[in-house]
Amino acid sequence: MKITDIRVHILQSELEQPFAFSQGWVKARSATIVEIHTDHGLIGWGEAFAQGLESPQIAASAIEYSLKPLILGQDPRNIEVLWHSMYNHTRDFGRKGSIIAAISGIDIALWDLLGKAYEAPVSQLMGGRFRDVVQPYATGFYRLKGQNEADRLAEEAVAHNDAGFKAMKIKLGFGVNDDIKVMQQIGRAIEGRTVELMVDTNHAYGRTEALRLGRVLDEYDLRWYEEPVPAEDVGGYIELRQKLKTPIAGGENEHSIYGFRELLNCHAVDIVQPDIGSCGGVTGARHVAALAQANGIEVNPHVWGSGVAQAASLQVLAALPTAVHSLYARQPILEYDRSSHPFRDDLVDRPLSLNTNGMVEISEKPGLGIEVNQEVVNKYKIN
Ligand code: CA
Repeated sequence: MKITDIRVHILQSELEQPFAFSQGWVKARSATIVEIHTDHGLIGWGEAFAQGLESPQIAASAIEYSLKPLILGQDPRNIEVLWHSMYNHTRDFGRKGSIIAAISGIDIALWDLLGKAYEAPVSQLMGGRFRDVVQPYATGFYRLKGQNEADRLAEEAVAHNDAGFKAMKIKLGFGVNDDIKVMQQIGRAIEGRTVELMVDTNHAYGRTEALRLGRVLDEYDLRWYEEPVPAEDVGGYIELRQKLKTPIAGGENEHSIYGFRELLNCHAVDIVQPDIGSCGGVTGARHVAALAQANGIEVNPHVWGSGVAQAASLQVLAALPTAVHSLYARQPILEYDRSSHPFRDDLVDRPLSLNTNGMVEISEKPGLGIEVNQEVVNKYKIN
């Protein structure tokens, strides 16, 4: 089998209501979608991660100009070989960010192709499924004004729970005093309900403020405190992990087995969060998962993409072992983005949804287990 064509689609849609996370205002949702054709007539789909402030054109250009010439004509089933070929080729100008996202987008499409070629879900080809369903947690709590939104955010917490979510992650990082007010209001609003909470500041603070907030957060019995300090401040992660009770999570802005090696060697996190669309794809996630397993650290993928990236994340989640074995071991959990995204669900035939038990079922269909709607691609395509 040979790769005959690689097409990159940059999808984008302006948001009617921009929203903020601690690093800025998100005005549009974007996706860099990869479509790989073969001489057998099979088509594989992938997605390179594009966060709220990331231009999708960067990964698209890397694919078009750096990676496409490398893998055209290659056998798409040689996934590990092609991963190393792409990584080695881009090492001197890549290693992080959108370049690894570009590799990830192609890698995901190759796994989709492999699954279609062998008529098996990606999770099975990764070694099998530890689970067929995964518990989701609601990601939301983005800001419409910025500060002083505690009342509205408390209502949002109740709405997520009423919609079936038993876990949710609160966006903080808008000033420590404002964050504390948000936590107090949400705490009051969900009192008496069974809700597991996490928080995420998107590295809004240096160590002093992150620690001050963390000491307050320690009263809330959180599942984790995510990106408390910038990704470069590994020492800050280590300090917070030593001084706080709350488990420390991070990794959405880390990339590849080499980047995660640093976090794990330094015992900087309790939970690693590789994004399948930017850590190196399904192959990158496998590398990171093996590394985490060797260190007894939980893996909970970061997920913020469209329906293609979500489907890839579900396949990886199915194939993730628990960090530690026991009869009632804590299972990985799915980040379920509840924020505004005009085309995330329409892009695929099987968008995320909760079943009656509040769980998300993982497709057993070949490849990523989804079909991409070409009309939706054409509708939102800007390149
Ligand atoms: Ca995050």
